Amino acid sequence: EVDVSQHIEIPKDPLFGGLLADGFDEQSCLSRYESVLYRKTSAYKPSPYLVSKLRQYEDLHKRCGPNTRSYNEAVKQLKSGRNVGTADCKYVVWVCYSGLGNRILTLASVFLYALLTERVLLVDRGKDMAGLFCEPFPERSWFLPMNFPMIKKFDSFDQNSRESYGNLLKNNKISASMRSLPSYMYLHLTHDYDDYDKMFFCDEDQALLNKFSWLIVKTDNYFVPSLFLMPSFEDELNKMFPNKVTIFHHLGRYLFHPSNHVWGLITRYYKAYLSKADERLGIQVRIFDKGPAPFQYVKDQISACTIGEKLLPEVDVSGFTMNPSKKPKVKAVLMTSLVYGYYENMRNIYWEHPTMTGEIIGVHQPSHEEQQQSEKPLHNMKALAEMYLLSLTDVLVTSAWSTFGYVAQGLGGLRPWILYKSENQTTPNPPCVRAMSMEPCFHAPPFYDCKAKKGIDTGKLVPHVRHCEDISWGLKVV
Ligand code: GDP
Repeated sequence: EVDVSQHIEIPKDPLFGGLLADGFDEQSCLSRYESVLYRKTSAYKPSPYLVSKLRQYEDLHKRCGPNTRSYNEAVKQLKSGRNVGTADCKYVVWVCYSGLGNRILTLASVFLYALLTERVLLVDRGKDMAGLFCEPFPERSWFLPMNFPMIKKFDSFDQNSRESYGNLLKNNKISASMRSLPSYMYLHLTHDYDDYDKMFFCDEDQALLNKFSWLIVKTDNYFVPSLFLMPSFEDELNKMFPNKVTIFHHLGRYLFHPSNHVWGLITRYYKAYLSKADERLGIQVRIFDKGPAPFQYVKDQISACTIGEKLLPEVDVSGFTMNPSKKPKVKAVLMTSLVYGYYENMRNIYWEHPTMTGEIIGVHQPSHEEQQQSEKPLHNMKALAEMYLLSLTDVLVTSAWSTFGYVAQGLGGLRPWILYKSENQTTPNPPCVRAMSMEPCFHAPPFYDCKAKKGIDTGKLVPHVRHCEDISWGLKVV
């Protein structure tokens, strides 16, 4: 039984309006059924079309997933090195790459691409994916079988790989008219990709890629906004997501169910520090500046934003006035950061002084791991737990440039205040900005008009794909 605190209503719909399929074993993935006890009901319902697409996808995955006849047949063709184009199922393999926030965003992007192109998504488990998440699809695993012939090559795939789509194009080694094609295609979509790799985002190129039973994708980018600019996908996307800003919100809630181990981290922390508060504020502090943290200008920025935007009350620095209220309102601040200092600073401010409003502010930080250590299992479990906990808050402040924060805002359905990236070690003015939407930002989008074959500002083509608040050249759906 779950111990539910007063503010949580008993939900009628643990499956989020049909977003999630029924029929899973509850014990093997508690978060799937219990998350609804911790989340406020989403203001956003998935469209019936999205729901039907997901059920169709699940059938496809059952029929074509790992170790099915179709899968074995397709692997045989892959090994043969020839593209005979007769396989009845097609696949897109997501290669495990980059920090956990990035991975979550790219997995959602590749899954959306799989939905759009009727491919089966297979997930490279890397070192720790299997310990972090539950299986999202009924009956068949989403993980690439360990004996998949190319797993050992994944690490070596990079911008220079001769077999990448971009390099084949650049060297005139591939075209639609070619008779014999390789048995797979490597798509290099990481931040360092070049103009040829970016041809992925052109419809004509998609027609060619459609001929491959196997696509292998390495990416650290949420590339969804650019899919919206492709005429071949636009209609389908509009049908799936009549409310455009809910793409990651729905796909994230559909795909990412924390494993029981991570769920333990989340629920214990929530019950101990957050559930009893009247209100929860999440503050994600991710500072990319070099040098010994904490930085005073960041401490100032956090205060300027939270107090300036009235997310937290001011303190009475001079006064020793006792708080008159017998039952003051308690606000819990959940701070996440690799370092300890920002938390310590804020906790002390609200411990040492009364607030002007009489509210009591409790500040909590689950961990301070000091450094990114993406290969250590418990490290990433904590990272996932913290992204998830942030998503359970009522109001959210995130840091510019950080995918960690994007995951929290998307899962939570929250439009955060974004702390601007500081320049020259000074507090930015204004310190933060309210996000236009809860969608993540695509950090390295293409600026190319596929039809006119020339450069173009892709952030100015349609009203619902704009440049991001935190990265001026990025793109996001708004
Ligand atoms: P990004 O670099 O901010 O876009 O986010 P990523 O999640 O892709 O990579 C950062 C990684 O650093 C995370 O996956 C964690 O491993 C670690 N990290 C960064 N900030 C935090 C934090 O606040 N808490 C924890 N536990 N880990 C963090």
